[in-house]
Amino acid sequence: MAEITLTFPDQSQRQYEAGSTTLDVAKSIASSLAKKAVAGEVNGTIVDLEQPLKQAGQFRILTSDDPEGLQVLRHTAAFVLGAALKQLHGDVHFGEHQSNEDGFYLDTDRAAGQVAINELPAIKKAMQKVISANQPIERKLVDKAELLAEFKDDPYQTSLLNAIDAVQINVYRLGDYLSFGDHALLKSLAPLKHFELLSVAGAYWQGKSSNPMLQRIYGTAFFKAADLDGDLKRRAEIKERDHRTIGRDLDIFFVDPEVGAGLPYWMPNGATIRRVIERYIIDKEVANGYEHVYTPVLANLNLYKTSGHWDHYREDMFPPMDMGDGEFLELRPMNCPSHIQIYNHHNRSYRELPIRIAELGMMHRYEKSGALSGLQRVREMTLNDGHTFLAQDQIKDEFKSVLKMMMEVYDDFNITDYTFRLSYRDPANTEKYFDDDAMWNSAQAMLKGACDELGLDYYEAEGEAAFYGPKLDVQTKTALGGEETMSTIQLDFMLPEKFDLKYTGADGQEHRPVMMHRGIVGTMERFIAYLMEIYKGAFPTWLAPTQVEVIPVNLDLHTDYAKDIQKQLAAAGVRVKLDLRNEKMGYKIREAQTQKIPYTLVVGDEELKAQTVSVRRYGEKDAADEPIKIFRDSILDDIHNYSRT
Ligand code: ATP
Ligand code: ZN
Repeated sequence: MAEITLTFPDQSQRQYEAGSTTLDVAKSIASSLAKKAVAGEVNGTIVDLEQPLKQAGQFRILTSDDPEGLQVLRHTAAFVLGAALKQLHGDVHFGEHQSNEDGFYLDTDRAAGQVAINELPAIKKAMQKVISANQPIERKLVDKAELLAEFKDDPYQTSLLNAIDAVQINVYRLGDYLSFGDHALLKSLAPLKHFELLSVAGAYWQGKSSNPMLQRIYGTAFFKAADLDGDLKRRAEIKERDHRTIGRDLDIFFVDPEVGAGLPYWMPNGATIRRVIERYIIDKEVANGYEHVYTPVLANLNLYKTSGHWDHYREDMFPPMDMGDGEFLELRPMNCPSHIQIYNHHNRSYRELPIRIAELGMMHRYEKSGALSGLQRVREMTLNDGHTFLAQDQIKDEFKSVLKMMMEVYDDFNITDYTFRLSYRDPANTEKYFDDDAMWNSAQAMLKGACDELGLDYYEAEGEAAFYGPKLDVQTKTALGGEETMSTIQLDFMLPEKFDLKYTGADGQEHRPVMMHRGIVGTMERFIAYLMEIYKGAFPTWLAPTQVEVIPVNLDLHTDYAKDIQKQLAAAGVRVKLDLRNEKMGYKIREAQTQKIPYTLVVGDEELKAQTVSVRRYGEKDAADEPIKIFRDSILDDIHNYSRT
């Protein structure tokens, strides 16, 4: 019989009879390896332990320690899920399945209605039954024609089969459940002990929205119990921090795709948080020399032709509105051209510079529907935007003052996990950038100098600058582990050219200003999504939609006193609610905690007599009695100092 040469990862080579299996190879090396092996990999393709090897080449034995081994386990879990569902419901069809770093999924389509989340425990049990029966999975090559006949009533499997260009197809069978394709499965179901079914969600057949909607069942599996435990804990933590969950539970916002995908509605709680932040940021900017303006979200399309957005950013813009008389109006994707109009409305002198224009500017971007996520990525957003028009020699000082303000803001919001990235042009490709070497060199040196003088810990990224100028980004981490730009300071040499911006210098001549784009907290949407995640919904007192909840012990006896306290606190500017529902006190206290209200005040006989309140801080078990005036002063102190609780 013919022989094949397998080359192992250490480059050693061995000869085997063609048709030997991965299991044979493992056995030939060591019986311990044969026990540990879960699959093989030939020239990058994963094969199961019993698949005859026909090709020479790079060969590796996969064990439970390899990430690819985990993929095989998860494919097997998806297979068992299919087999279990088939046993439970004969009328189920299957779409695609997948195994990846996150787990596995299987698309299902059940005639009697899609699988619901509350069925997952029963399905898991059925899977455990399949596993403990420990029937061998039968693997064989079957003619495609035969499979097509077998699946003639199944549109999904028929379509998957038609996409395979082979006469014979690899098939795995367990009872009357059958799955085909290249994904290798485990030889035995025994290692499949530590798995969990996680969620269900609608998924279009093959990802196309014109196709039928199937139900995708998500799960995960590990070789070790501890790994599964760790993963489930991590998922719970992510869920607890997920701003979409918090936004729903605390009634902060909602998005209804039927009304408009990516167009959020801010409920009163969310609107309160947003209003407090907006007031805070406006006050901060005004104190730092910014002039706040309001400019329209709509402008003649020509404005965005001049700015270059129409040429370079069109994909992200909503289509222009044809007004019928030759006029086209466009929803702005950025506020810069609007602020340029403000600058250009007057003649400017060097004495006025830097001119700092700021706005909570609403913008619209046509983000892809698949990218939309809660408040984090939306189609209508309000940016804490600012544009400074300045002379070249003012760049360093201005940059420093923006950075200082930024860090004060971070401190007030207790944002501590961030990094600075200073982006330069690519020195090897200067022709890709705005053409003014002297300007680039001096501006980059000024930005670096400012960072050094402030003692910032930053990293430099060559080639990451925008083509119109260097920039500094502040990167923060999201709860899901991703990185996100929170703040940005960008120099721009180009827009002043395009709009022919000028100022009169001390020499009486006209000069071109430099523009600085900067956002401190980014868009309200993304910033508040981020805050929900880092605070886990427990907003510090100054931001909390309801800061105090007052609960009378007995509605008949203590309501008047509770109302009096509410009045006193409200008069001092505290956001306070009274819970007069006919519910048990313990229930009300628990609910105030669930709603993450910073302070719960309980008032009964003793408090009434002593003119005190029983104060319970969010997250604390014990309550302490305080005279109402002392409580009022301390909460006002919290609010004005942006304290954590
Ligand atoms: P991204 O890379 O996330 O699309 P960008 O680089 O296009 O953002 P900029 O044009 O610099 O973003 O926008 C300024 C700010 O607006 C950024 O701080 C970003 O956080 C925020 N932002 C951008 N797009 C969205 C969106 N679709 N939804 C919410 N916030 C957004
Ligand atoms: Zn701008």
